Amino acid sequence: MKLDAQNGALLANLQATLAGLDRTQTPGVWLDELIGRGLDGLPMPGRGATLQRWQALGLVAGHDLSLAKLYEGHTDALAVMAEVAPSAPPAKGATWGMWAAEAAHGRALVDTSEAGGVRLNGAKRWCSGAGQVSHGLLTAWWPDGRGPQLVRVAMDQPGVSVCAAGWHAVGMAASASVDVAFRDARVELVGAEGAYLNRPGFWQGGAGIAACWHGGAQALAAALHRTLVQVPPGHRNAFRLAALGKVDVALQATAALLREAARWIDEHPTEDASAAGLRVRLAVEICAKQVLDEVGQALGAAPFCRDAPFAQMAADLPVYLRQSHGERDFAALGERLMSPGEASWEL
Ligand SMILES: Cc1cc2nc3c(=O)[nH]c(=O)nc-3n(C[C@H](O)[C@H](O)[C@H](O)COP(=O)(O)OP(=O)(O)OC[C@H]3O[C@@H](n4cnc5c(N)ncnc54)[C@H](O)[C@@H]3O)c2cc1C
Repeated sequence: MKLDAQNGALLANLQATLAGLDRTQTPGVWLDELIGRGLDGLPMPGRGATLQRWQALGLVAGHDLSLAKLYEGHTDALAVMAEVAPSAPPAKGATWGMWAAEAAHGRALVDTSEAGGVRLNGAKRWCSGAGQVSHGLLTAWWPDGRGPQLVRVAMDQPGVSVCAAGWHAVGMAASASVDVAFRDARVELVGAEGAYLNRPGFWQGGAGIAACWHGGAQALAAALHRTLVQVPPGHRNAFRLAALGKVDVALQATAALLREAARWIDEHPTEDASAAGLRVRLAVEICAKQVLDEVGQALGAAPFCRDAPFAQMAADLPVYLRQSHGERDFAALGERLMSPGEASWEL
């Protein structure tokens, strides 16, 4: 009961703070404000309040997806560090990026050969918010090929170069998922080699991204709903009402799946959550694409051109959805269903 009240207060506080954010500022500034107010202290996944964690991510996403990208990365990094290295908590006040994507060529390599601590060399791609956060938590590799090894790095040092040159995104522009180069950068090892992947939180955290996509889709659906309720009953366009019905069915179904996945994770905190995680990510991806399509078709050009928050959301969501691994994840889910008892669709 106490946990519920605490989480309820956090969500209410988050909602009020989001509503009061200065719209002329950037998502990086907004992230600092949320952290400064302690609104990054989300319940850890798998500890009884996974749904509230996802509700917080969805709320932030409904406000702005670039902010959600930064906030999700920051809160995921905090959860990862608490899980794999609980005895070495991060410095207070730091802002975190969580960078685990592996490029086909070029890795970040750990070097312990010199006296004076651990060094990092190489490059990392897809580092969201690298130009805005104070620290990064990232996957690196040992020179003999062992890994991934989590390391944390302070961005403000000569051995770290953020390269924004290749970033041409229009949607999600403000989250700048850029390349970072490391040259003898000082880093700290976080947890044991392989700990990043071999932990229950890996899929529990991965599912949190679906909550962000859901929040973005919900915001677009809300724009259609707002438009329709302003019209007196009997005068509402039947095609728009049908579109609202379709997005309601899609969003209700994915919301139910997210709630069920959160409950499953809380009831099985140490079990492999990959099937649940893949399922919610893929379901929300399909739902979000449908919502984009239905709402866009129902409302026409006007909100894309004249409603700034809508235009931003509609530009950001398709780019953010590309963080999905698409067909690769569908195949991975299919593979999970080969295990006895997994392919069960009964009510
Ligand atoms: C806006 C944005 C922000 C991001 N921020 C971060 C971040 O902060 N941290 C981070 O670690 N990463 C981040 N990423 C990177 C993300 O995690 C992915 O690594 C990246 O999007 C590339 O995905 P991919 O590897 O599936 O793409 P690719 O390997 O380029 O694949 C493209 C598509 O090909 C198909 N495909 C590929 N291989 C297979 C296969 N074997 N079987 C079936 N189909 C296949 C899939 O449909 C897949 O979607 C971000 C990405 C985006 C778009």
